[in-house]
Amino acid sequence: MRGVAGGARKPKSRFGATLERLSYIRIWFFERETRELVRISQCEMIESFLDAFSDYPSSVALALFSEITETVLPDREPSDANFRLLLLAAQAVKRTGKPDLPLAYFALWTVKLGGWLPSLTRCAQCGAALDADAAAYFVPSVSAAVCGKCRKPGMRMLSPAAQGAARKVLEERLDRLTEKSDAPSPRAARELADLMLDIIERQIDRKLKARELLESHA
Ligand SMILES: [Zn+2]
Repeated sequence: MRGVAGGARKPKSRFGATLERLSYIRIWFFERETRELVRISQCEMIESFLDAFSDYPSSVALALFSEITETVLPDREPSDANFRLLLLAAQAVKRTGKPDLPLAYFALWTVKLGGWLPSLTRCAQCGAALDADAAAYFVPSVSAAVCGKCRKPGMRMLSPAAQGAARKVLEERLDRLTEKSDAPSPRAARELADLMLDIIERQIDRKLKARELLESHA
């Protein structure tokens, strides 16, 4: 939903920091049938993510969460699973200060909730089981994974470590995963996130703006 909040930019606004990016808030608003924008009358902070934005790598991940959520979800429709995913991922970035795994988790689950995740256990070409110890090859354009034998030029490789990261992300909730000693490495998480962001960009048919910041930093 989009709305206007009267006087929100004034220094002593009653809205305070509640309308900052990604703030988790309770909100009261009026809707008029003829207007697209709702009128925000009151906001109450539940959880702020403003501090996390002061760390550069964290702020890039949070900006990506925000941009992806806004782009992928339909307007004016409750999307409970995506909401819980966003909150879980933003809280993990804020709590750990390490955005690689939360970003991989967020991107993979966004792809899965969108129905775009290919099978990670069977080759889309020959149907053979994908070996956990061998690389798999991806065709982001059709969102499919194939085995080494069915590999064709131009396909993206996904290393065994990144495939392992994908399995862990699908099996374990992010807040528990970040506490584990065998959690995916930042490198495997980055490789996985990179492929998932490619799939998302393919689905939305454009480049993600915040992703450029990610790449210039890496
Ligand atoms: Zn195959």
